[in-house]
Amino acid sequence: MTAAPPGFHASNEPRPASVYVHFPYCLTKCPYCDFVSYKTPREAIDHVGYADAVIAELRARASYAEAAWSAAGSRRRIESVFFGGGTPSLWEPKELGRVLAAVREHFTCAEGDALEVTVECNPTSLDERRARDLDAQGVNRLSVGTQSLRQEQLQYLGRLHDPAGAQEAVRGALASGIGRVSTDLIFGLPGQSPEDARSQAGELADAGLRHLSCYQLTIEPGTQFGELSRRGRLPLADDGLVAEGFLAIDEELTSRGFTHYEISNYAMPGEESRHNLAYWRGLEYVGVGCGAYGYVQTARVGAAADGGIGVRYRNAIDPKAYVAAAAGVRDDALGEGDGLSISSEPLDGETLLRERIMLGLRLANGVDLGACGRDLGVDPWTPERVRTIEQLSSKGRLARVGDTLRIPRPAWLWADDTAARLF
Ligand code: SF4
Repeated sequence: MTAAPPGFHASNEPRPASVYVHFPYCLTKCPYCDFVSYKTPREAIDHVGYADAVIAELRARASYAEAAWSAAGSRRRIESVFFGGGTPSLWEPKELGRVLAAVREHFTCAEGDALEVTVECNPTSLDERRARDLDAQGVNRLSVGTQSLRQEQLQYLGRLHDPAGAQEAVRGALASGIGRVSTDLIFGLPGQSPEDARSQAGELADAGLRHLSCYQLTIEPGTQFGELSRRGRLPLADDGLVAEGFLAIDEELTSRGFTHYEISNYAMPGEESRHNLAYWRGLEYVGVGCGAYGYVQTARVGAAADGGIGVRYRNAIDPKAYVAAAAGVRDDALGEGDGLSISSEPLDGETLLRERIMLGLRLANGVDLGACGRDLGVDPWTPERVRTIEQLSSKGRLARVGDTLRIPRPAWLWADDTAARLF
């Protein structure tokens, strides 16, 4: 029997898929942030109207996605729902709960805690009571935006909370009894020593967290930091110290029993983010909400004359435009002309294979290129790619075992470049 590709079930089983819900409001706009998020006072947030719009979109997207999956020849089961943003912990839990109920109503979902439901939270909108309220709505995982435990670093990042507020939010989340709690930590800040990065990761693990996402600060064009950097006015960290910080965090957390399962993510056994794993494995996600992206398979592999087997769409990025469009969305919403998507891109097997290489190589277990090729109906072993694999392997940048490619940990710092060479 041929093994199913990672994350895939046997062919008569529904394939796993996800739902992503975007909530676009924040209390401030952090200077490094390039997400679709808008600084909005608490009292100006549109809790009910925004929930109504997302529910209308869910109904339409589910109707089309179910038809598309039927055309693709297999069913889907939603195994994770992720409320991202923005700051979805600002959303009234009751309204967020209405949206979650609509996901369950319109899609076939895994039962009970087999459905991972994550909400991103900021310390300024999370305490034990809010965590309990989210738990009562069916949320079973929180991701807390700690970012740093040092006052001067939080100030540099433009965050509204202080170290005590971050620790209090983490304590409240853990004390609430909600199933699982993760936190984000940013390293690679100017003036930060590798020892400080290590020590903060350790302090968060000491607090009882069993999942940590540790991101290097990146400067994105179009952000305040991007503009300051372009003008040479942003203090930045030394590249060597950033690399040492990455390794120091790795040492600290793996010595405590965490698995470094993705370049930026650490988990105790069984605590991995199922939603993000599905994304890194190239599985489908139905995106809803302002600015959300979605990717849905629309045809059987090899059936479409133009080789297209899926569609990626993106929603309107202005909340008011989104809410207005959702009110009139057509029931076959999955692309251009549906009244909601501002872009829609057909995806063929080669494009999807490149995405799976790029995302899959971020995982410690790597990517099963042979299985991906079979799943997408393309030959991944082109002579040029095989040559590149051999060259990269000889330099210690890549390892191949059977059909699986992975990047050895010491070479993770060059993962993006390694993946790009395999395109
Ligand atoms: S809180 Fe998060 S989403 Fe909001 S502006 Fe800051 S980084 Fe962006």
